[in-house]
Amino acid sequence: MFEEARHDVWVYARKMWEANLVVASAGNVSCRAGAQHIAITPSSIPYETLQEEEIVIVDLASGNAVDSLHKPSYELPMHLSIYRSMPDVQGVVHTHAPYVTALSVLRKPLPPIIDEMMIYFGGTVEVAEYAFTGTDAVGTHVVRALGDRSGAMLANHGNVCIGRSLQKAMHVAITMESCAQVYLEALKIGEPVTLPLEAISAGRRMFEERR
Ligand SMILES: [Zn+2]
Repeated sequence: MFEEARHDVWVYARKMWEANLVVASAGNVSCRAGAQHIAITPSSIPYETLQEEEIVIVDLASGNAVDSLHKPSYELPMHLSIYRSMPDVQGVVHTHAPYVTALSVLRKPLPPIIDEMMIYFGGTVEVAEYAFTGTDAVGTHVVRALGDRSGAMLANHGNVCIGRSLQKAMHVAITMESCAQVYLEALKIGEPVTLPLEAISAGRRMFEERR
């Protein structure tokens, strides 16, 4: 009964790795698997060898793995916090993409400097307060930093991207890395100019229609 969710997580985990948003077994991907479960990448299995059947199914209420070969990702508490507090979210992607992670180390939010950032992120990508990897506090801080947008950075760590499908969450992750690169390159030369207010409002309307 969980085949479709396992397949989707496997496909997008491989995409994340192939897009160089993570290396080895870093980062993680999850999606809802029915009303009471989520499917999530396992802990410490390299993407290169990851098989569909190794994706872990977790009971959303208890946080316990069911019917699975491996332990769930170490960052499971963060995924659980998001699904429990945001009923519309269907997919979550957590990356250590290099440019995004550089910004997270600087603890510098990513402001809207390109139209598509408003359309896909819904506003400034904020940096969540620091918490040690794998703790419940990561989830609490991330939910707060996400607010009503589709992505946030984790201080000194990486980012988390959400969507009403796993495909949308992955699109946010890939777009955010390219925007973070532009922002950091521009910062080397001068002070990037944020979008005019009209563009911010128009982009936000499109974000709300499309997400
Ligand atoms: Zn991580």
